[in-house]
Amino acid sequence: MKKYLCLLLFLPSLLLSQQNISSPEKTFGFKMGDDRKLIDWTQIVSYFKTVDELSNRVVVQELGKSTLGKPFVLAIISSEANIKNLERYKSIQRQLAKPYTLETNAAAQLVDEGKTVVLITLNIHSTEIASTQESVELLYEFATSQSPQVEKILDNVIVLLIPSLNPDGQQLVVDWYKKTLGTPAEGTAPPELYHHYAGHDNNRDWFMYNLVESRHAAKVLYHGWFPEIVYDQHQMGSNGPRLFVPPYADPVNPNVPPLLTAQTNLLGNYVVADLHRQGFKGVVTGTIFNAFFEGTMSKTPLWHNRIGILSEMASVQIATPIYFPKGSIGGAGLDLPENKTQTNYLDPWEGGWWRLRDIIDYEKAVTYSLLDFAAILKEKIKTNFYALNHEAIRAGQSAPPYAYIISADQHDPNAAAILANKLMIAGVEIQQTTQAISIDNKKIPAGSFYISLTQPSRMYIKDLFEAQNYPDLKQYPGGPPRIPYDVTAWTLPMQMGVEVVELDEPVAVQAKSIQQAVTPAGTPSTAARYYLIERRYTNSFGLANALLKDSVTVFETMQPAQLENKKFDAGLFVIAADEIARAKLDGLSKEWEVPLYGVDTKPTSPMREIKAARIGIYQPWLTSMDEGWTRYVLDQFNVAYQILHNEDFKKQNANLKQDLDVIILPDMSTTAIVDGRRGGGDEDSREDEPVLGTPELPKENQGGIGKEGVEALKAFVKEGGTLLAFGGAANFAIEKLRVPAVNELKGVPNKDFYAPGSIFEVDIDTTQPLAFGMHDKAFIYFTNNPAFRLLPYVKESKIIASYGDSSPRRSGWLLGAERLSGNVALAEIPIEKGRVIFYGFRVQHRAQTHGTYKLFLNALLQSK
Ligand SMILES: [Zn+2]
Repeated sequence: MKKYLCLLLFLPSLLLSQQNISSPEKTFGFKMGDDRKLIDWTQIVSYFKTVDELSNRVVVQELGKSTLGKPFVLAIISSEANIKNLERYKSIQRQLAKPYTLETNAAAQLVDEGKTVVLITLNIHSTEIASTQESVELLYEFATSQSPQVEKILDNVIVLLIPSLNPDGQQLVVDWYKKTLGTPAEGTAPPELYHHYAGHDNNRDWFMYNLVESRHAAKVLYHGWFPEIVYDQHQMGSNGPRLFVPPYADPVNPNVPPLLTAQTNLLGNYVVADLHRQGFKGVVTGTIFNAFFEGTMSKTPLWHNRIGILSEMASVQIATPIYFPKGSIGGAGLDLPENKTQTNYLDPWEGGWWRLRDIIDYEKAVTYSLLDFAAILKEKIKTNFYALNHEAIRAGQSAPPYAYIISADQHDPNAAAILANKLMIAGVEIQQTTQAISIDNKKIPAGSFYISLTQPSRMYIKDLFEAQNYPDLKQYPGGPPRIPYDVTAWTLPMQMGVEVVELDEPVAVQAKSIQQAVTPAGTPSTAARYYLIERRYTNSFGLANALLKDSVTVFETMQPAQLENKKFDAGLFVIAADEIARAKLDGLSKEWEVPLYGVDTKPTSPMREIKAARIGIYQPWLTSMDEGWTRYVLDQFNVAYQILHNEDFKKQNANLKQDLDVIILPDMSTTAIVDGRRGGGDEDSREDEPVLGTPELPKENQGGIGKEGVEALKAFVKEGGTLLAFGGAANFAIEKLRVPAVNELKGVPNKDFYAPGSIFEVDIDTTQPLAFGMHDKAFIYFTNNPAFRLLPYVKESKIIASYGDSSPRRSGWLLGAERLSGNVALAEIPIEKGRVIFYGFRVQHRAQTHGTYKLFLNALLQSK
């Protein structure tokens, strides 16, 4: 009895509070992962906040709001002693991450004192819902468990847990699941993008940082915590292996240090061993998922000297289980042709029921194993992190490229500043020159951005700035290409139309560090009678749209103009300088960072008034990420628009021209637009129709625009409307509207022509209004899109962008360059009173291709 009392007296405060933490099962009334049961974002955040209050091992922070205003949270989890010293551990991380002056001995002391920092991110893809249900269980166990395993982890590791990288989508999917539970639609994905702008592409944003959620995570990755290990949880298709973890598949990106790939492989295989010890089956490595592309959450750390781990679990139908009869499990990609034992797949799963709870069990097992690795190998992991950062700095002093300079003398100065800001979000250090210099007889004015490669982010910068040479991988010698996991090109200066000078010799520059890049604007002169805004500034479109919203009259010049000794390209925005315009312009030019020219004489070039068009975007129930990114770009540039659903095309007496001047069809196949089926090109194929009795979207969310929609679109164009057909939608315009053109790449097998996300250079006819503000050469983004030959017609078709005779490839993979020779990339085809504009590339691809935005935004200003 006495002994018992003693024990009570020495109960740490931790244990007392732990007793008050209620388990997820008790809190929510069911075990996480029970069939057909889900908790939503409100419940998750509330549980996290409660544990934050009651536990000395957990600190929960709100990093900001999601796109639609939900709390975006981070839990910091470690032992009570570590939690008391978080600022010290952060400081250690920063010193190891930026070891400019940190010597080996001092680093060893910091390694000894520090903890391994592991960032775990969940549920970036909202229908991959299991991890959010897992998150509360992990939090509960870390906060309350006294097991030696958990204590070892918490003593040696600081766990950073983001329970969803997309809170809006988590809520959307749970709401949709509950709404459709018990109906034929139970287990379907919602008929809208689960990220407001990006859908699934929210995991293609990790160098561009368009999305606020990515930027919140970047604060943790590159400014606050500098975690050495990043682990991102996903789910994949249902019918193959149960779990994928690294080693990643080939090919290997040349800019990832071998030590880092080796450590990632080691950690992956450590997890595999742990899972087999615990009897988990169906674990595969080294297939499908490669680490060549750096735009995803689990991979981007590899260019920042961190270990990046991905897990992919076989899915269920949201929370509805699936039964797999014996023999129904397949392989996964070329590196696992069948569900049979081989070296990267040691213990096949043979089938049976598969439930949400199974996914959680696997994911938890991976998480514990990974954290165990982080705890046991703390010294090695941290020492290597320091060594890799140190080596990046050293390499920057002894091998080219030494630096990149983004000259202030730039066709589009806004794009240059935006590019610099994107880099700084990812922790890149940038300076601005304070003196003009000359490199290879090119004058680089003061105010240019200088990016030294003597910094830890060396490989990240290099990989973003150089052209990608994707290896020419075939399925077998002479056979079709091995499909890459994602795109094969992302060279950011090309995508953004920014000119960069690479320094292959060290050059001394006078420069100062900056935290933000700004394009110089200036105040309008009060005496001027007209204000001119140059269209080469991308942001001039945002400014012009803001003026139109405020009912200020804006003209554009139709030809080049010479004014007061300065030459201006065609497409100059011209505003008469009354009091109202002047007052507005002052603020707007600063906000949009666009300079104004005040002049006293009107330009002599012919001018026309531009007007805000009434714009509609087709939003399919199948969902289209391209549609979402289009809205993103329009929102960025202050353009109003409305959403069109199938009904708007199909309803009786639909008169689209009455309400709209422009209709945008996102990059979609003909079958998807007309019938609402993913399918391939073959209209009669019914293979993508659901198996009888499997989950199916409600009737009102099925189908496409139908035959009625095709007729309504024909009438729209004939009566004066402008139809923008993005990428594959041009095929629809050719095949269904019978616009006089052919797609020269239609039906060409991929062994003869293939370009799965590559950057090409094309010629631009800058005399065409659609190309105002552009250079006469441009980089375009191409993802197996059409290339056109225009046909004889009763009206004059216009070629805006075209391919030359030599290979247009500038970055990424291209098979069959000769197929593009002489073809058209962008055309404007007048049809009666209206017109169709074909974009044979991705004009606003993932909101990354700032360099071609103008070719899109011009069409909107010239359609009314
Ligand atoms: Zn995923």
